[in-house]
Order: sequence, then structure tokens, then C-alpha cells
Amino acid sequence: RLEICNLTRAFGGRPVVDDVSLSVAAGQVTCLLGPSGCGKSTTLRMIAGVEQPDAGIIRIDGQPVCGDGPTRPPEARSVGLMFQDFALFPHLTVAQNVAFGLPRDRALQARRVEELLERVNLTGYGPKHPHQLSGGEQQRVALARALAPRPRVMLMDEPFSGLDNRLRDGIRDATLDLLKEEGTAVLLVTHEPDEAMRMADEIALMRGGRIVQRGAPYNIYNAPVDKAAAAFFSDIN
Ligand code: ATP
Ligand code: MG
Repeated sequence: RLEICNLTRAFGGRPVVDDVSLSVAAGQVTCLLGPSGCGKSTTLRMIAGVEQPDAGIIRIDGQPVCGDGPTRPPEARSVGLMFQDFALFPHLTVAQNVAFGLPRDRALQARRVEELLERVNLTGYGPKHPHQLSGGEQQRVALARALAPRPRVMLMDEPFSGLDNRLRDGIRDATLDLLKEEGTAVLLVTHEPDEAMRMADEIALMRGGRIVQRGAPYNIYNAPVDKAAAAFFSDIN
């Protein structure tokens, strides 16, 4: 479970994330939806621990990792990350990429890597190098790598936007099914309302650094909080 309370961050005196609170239960997907520059990635970076908030509290499974006690470094937060440019390590094999964040136990690593490659439909790809793979295959390796240490929270920043439509739906559904099965709390950033409608258990609508509306997708679609929110959803059918 991920909880953030009153998270705030300014750059050069301008608030970019302004008193943001939200929570994501285990096995649930919350979509952070909003226009370019509204503060989505900054919010994710603070949860990951690579950016420090000016104020606010972040809890993971009830434990404060930032605010309300000592700040935990990124690697001690049980947070996985998937970004659009999901760069694999080019000099490592697929199997070594997936095993990268795992404890150094050979047998254990091999078992987990095999299991994950099977789950992302890349059985037998372990010995290959990233340059021998298509973009979609590389993305699935990146997914397996992010899942490998079983993070409690997965932060995804437009991770599917580089893929063509046909590949994208399959990989997106497989990814989120896997995460739900593992009971991971998922915070998925997108600026595409139809993606949020499809994937989210809850949508948090963000604008100018603030959450302006939160709710189940169809509640937001049917009862947008204001004209701007309505306009944002108007091109879905
Ligand atoms: P997009 O959809 O385009 O990715 P976003 O919602 O992810 O947008 P952020 O990357 O969070 O937006 O940025 C929000 C605002 O904060 C932007 O105006 C950006 O220029 C500014 N910003 C982000 N990081 C910094 C920084 N390190 N220094 C100064 N300004 C920053
Ligand atoms: Mg961004």
C-alpha cells in the first residue's frame, strides 16, 4: 500500500507539486492523469526517493519512508520504476538484466529469471543481448527486471508510450495483470484519458501541481469536476 500525504515541492519559488495526497491499495492501479508540466513525474520521483519533497509524508505498507522520521534511500523503499526510456544495460544479457536487482544467490536468481521471462513471454531469451531484441521485447525485459525484486509499489511513467498500438495493448494488459497478481500497488502516469479509463481502479486528475479530482474512472467521466476536466475527457468515446 502506498500513501502520500500533503506532498509539496517548489522549484525556484514556484510550487510544482502542491499539497498532493493520495493512496493506492495493494493490487490496485491508480492513474495520475494530467496535462504536460502538471507535476506528475516530479510526484513519482519523490515517491521513488530521487527527488526530495519540501514537505509531506510518504508511507509504504504503513512505514514512513520520507517525512515523519528518517528518510529511506531509494533502494530501501521497495519501489520499482518503469519509465518510457527503460534503458537496459547493453553489455549484459537479458538474464543478467533481469537478475540485476536480486540477491546474489545463483540458483535463486536463475529460478526467478526463468519464471519472469516466461511470464512476459520471452522464454529462452535469457542469453541474448538487448540489441538483438525488438523494442517491445526490450520493454518486456525491462518489465521483468522491474518486477524481479517483488517491489510493493510500482511507479510507471508513460511506460507504454513508445510502443505501436498493437504491441502496446498486449504488453500493457499483461504487465498490469502481473502486478495485480503480485499484490503490487501501482501508480501509473499518463496524459491519455482513454488509457486511464481502461487501466485504472481509480483516477487522480492533476492540474497545476494539485489533485483536482479523484474517483473511479466512470464517476470522473460522468461527473467531471469542472469544464477543464470535462474537456480533457471529451475526445473519448
Ligand atoms: P509531462 O507530462 O510533460 O512529463 P509532468 O506532469 O511529468 O509533465 P514534471 O516533469 O513533474 O511534469 O514537471 C512539472 C514542472 O516542474 C514543469 O514545469 C517542469 O519544468 C518543472 N520542473 C521539474 N523538475 C524541475 C527541476 N529539477 N528544476 C526546475 N524545474 C523543474
Ligand atoms: Mg513527466
